[in-house]
Amino acid sequence: LKVNFAPFLDESSNKMGVVFVLQDITESEKLENMRREFVANVSHELKTPLTSIKSYTETLLEGGVDDPEMQNTFLGVVNSEADRMSRLVRDLLELSNFDSDTVQLKLNKVDINQLLDQCILKLKATADQKGHVFIKRYHDYQVNANLDGDKIEQLLLNIMSNAIKYSDAKSEIVVDLREGHTETFFDIVITDNGIGIPETDLNRIFERFYRVDKARSRELGGTGLGLSIAKEIVESHGGLIHIDSEYGFGTKVTISLPFDRKNV
Ligand code: ADP
Repeated sequence: LKVNFAPFLDESSNKMGVVFVLQDITESEKLENMRREFVANVSHELKTPLTSIKSYTETLLEGGVDDPEMQNTFLGVVNSEADRMSRLVRDLLELSNFDSDTVQLKLNKVDINQLLDQCILKLKATADQKGHVFIKRYHDYQVNANLDGDKIEQLLLNIMSNAIKYSDAKSEIVVDLREGHTETFFDIVITDNGIGIPETDLNRIFERFYRVDKARSRELGGTGLGLSIAKEIVESHGGLIHIDSEYGFGTKVTISLPFDRKNV
């Protein structure tokens, strides 16, 4: 809300009172602010790895590092910073496709139980490294759905990777499949007992680049765009994604999807 005020004068310029104008900032102004903030964030996120790449390559080119082991370490940093930039550009392109409505879902019959197995298998090595275990609670409920299997896989991998990333070593990550809020929906529920999300951050967590702890996210290779992409994927299917969390105790992500995208 914008507030402007000015003195209210009579014909002889005597002050009679004050005029207040309360102005609701319009939707377009809000959008413009969000756009500006987004561009600033993108620039910053790209600049950080670029600065690091530049300084390491310059040092190497100047011949300042003789030790081959050290040279390798420097190249390793350059390589991983370039990877970070690639991830960022990939995620930005994906979001821009959603923004311009150019995403065409490739609907196919998806065995959700099998897809969950597949995602857990793909993440097993990463989970093992931290001693995490996945608990599969979806054996007694079988779901076949008509969705974009690749996109749903991407969404699940993202949420499951977050559960791995934001949990201390040797945690359990529970994956469950349940009946949805209506007959035409089912729920996938992924629960971790990790670091959790403070209540004040919870309602901003789906915003692009919003992260509770920037340094931690960066260190773990995050772009801060994963949850915004997850939300786009779910909503493009006519579904809903919801996060409950208790700081210090864990996080529960509920993804509600229709059995048949066409009937949404
Ligand atoms: P990032 O690339 O930083 O992981 P995301 O968009 O996937 O970006 O998530 C945004 C932020 O939400 C993360 O930086 C982290 O602070 C928080 N977050 C996401 N998932 C979890 C989780 N399971 N537990 C705790 N915090 C989480």
